[in-house]
Formats: sequence, C-alpha cells, structure tokens
Amino acid sequence: MPAMNEATRNLADTEADTRPGRRIDVVSLYPKDMNIYGDWGNVLTVMRRLSLYGYDPVLHEYNQGDPWPEHVDLILGGGGQDNGQKKITDDLFARADTLRALAADGVPMLMICGLYQLFGEYFETVDGTRLDGIGILGAYTVGREHRMIGNLVEHSEEFGDIIGYENHSGQTFLTGDTKPLGRVDADGTGNNGTDHTEGARFGNVIGTYMHGSVLPKNPRLADGLIRIAAERRFGAFSPQQDEQQSTELRRIDDFAQHARVVAASRPR
Ligand code: GLN
Repeated sequence: MPAMNEATRNLADTEADTRPGRRIDVVSLYPKDMNIYGDWGNVLTVMRRLSLYGYDPVLHEYNQGDPWPEHVDLILGGGGQDNGQKKITDDLFARADTLRALAADGVPMLMICGLYQLFGEYFETVDGTRLDGIGILGAYTVGREHRMIGNLVEHSEEFGDIIGYENHSGQTFLTGDTKPLGRVDADGTGNNGTDHTEGARFGNVIGTYMHGSVLPKNPRLADGLIRIAAERRFGAFSPQQDEQQSTELRRIDDFAQHARVVAASRPR
C-alpha cells in the first residue's frame, strides 16, 4: 500500500513539532489487516481536518504485537475480510481491557464493518466459525450467503444523512442499550436487511457498515469525533485557523458535498 506509507510518513513528521494544548493522538487500529474499500481515507480525513482546525495530530498505527501508545484521543478501525478478522482476534483480546477502559472513559472510536463486528459480542461467519468479539457494543453478527452490497444513505439524528457504501455478509442485530447509528429506508440494507437499523452507538463508540470511505463524505461525522476528542483532552474544541486553512476546509467540504450527491444518486 504505497499511498498509505507515503501519507503516514508525512503525518508522522509532525510528531516532533506538537505544541502544548494542540496535540491530538489518533490511533489507526490494525491498518495492515483491517483496511479495505478505502477505509484508510478515514484516517487521512481526521488527520487533515485536525490540522486545518489548527491542532497537531499525531498518528499511531497499531498492528498486532505493537506497543500500545502512551496517550490516545481517538481510535479509527476499518473493515476486513473474514480471514483478516481471524488474524487479529488474539491481539484484539490482548488489548480488550485497554479498549474497554478507553471506551468507558469516553474516548471517541469509529469502527467500520469487520471491526464493528468484532467490537460486538460475536461474529459467526458463513462457514459456521464463531469469532468472539470484545463486547464494547451490544451487537451480534451472523454470516449469510447473501452479501449486502451497495451505496447507502442512512438518517442519523445527530449527524444528518450519512452516506457510504456497504459490503458485508454478516447480519448484525443490536442488543441492550446500544442504539443504531441511523435508520435506512429500504429492506435488504443496513445492519441486517430487516429492521432498518444501520450501525451502532454506545457512549462515544460508533460502529457502522459504511465504507466509502465514510469520513471524507461525511464531514459532520468526522467533526463530531474530532470535537469529542478535543473536548476530552483540552476541555473545549477551539479551532485556530488562518485564512488559508479556512479556505482549504471549505474546498474539502465542497468536494464532500459533490461526492455525497453522486453516491446518493447511484444505484446499488
Ligand atoms: N467479513 C465481514 C463480512 O463480510 C466484514 C466485511 C467487511 O469488513 N467489509 O460480513
């Protein structure tokens, strides 16, 4: 993945230059094995938007066996094929207590598809293998022969319409106090194709089937995560932007708006 390495190198360069009161530590969870359908775009979006708001984001890529970063403000995890999910399970369980403690503490997290499933209670794959999840989200998933694939719009009270692309065989059902991230209109889409829910939210932890990547296309969702991260670390979200940064942010948001219209109008 040359693009990822290049981007990471550039982002990592900022570490030495962080200013007191502006540093935000972002963790990308298992980017080697859980990173499909453009999910890396979520990391790029958060890093870029934080910079444009005048913060000093530092990226920590966490893969199996890596040391856990000293400080964590925001965690992003992507999707993966069933075998990628199997590969990371042991390490995920080794880190489960840390992740549960961070979630209980209110650290914002966004988990896409494969990691959404493993942040739930379990994922039983289509061949009957059961992968236990770490139970941060009240959700369980059962694999089916029929994959749910296509562009998707969901309606969320907090973030407006979220637009993305789903591609999963797992059908997810929510349990307990975990709420859906949003609602979908059509049968055959969303968490399980039947109850018209999509994604999950418990505290500041969000799970969703939305690839896309989802954050570039949904600045409100990206900013929601950023705001919580900044408020937790510094007590307030306080953008400090020069003219150039504001202009660039508007330009990116215009692109996002265009991408949203195109994706929402595409057939599945
Ligand atoms: N392997 C899982 C499924 O198909 C997750 C796929 C994904 O992350 N896109 O349900």
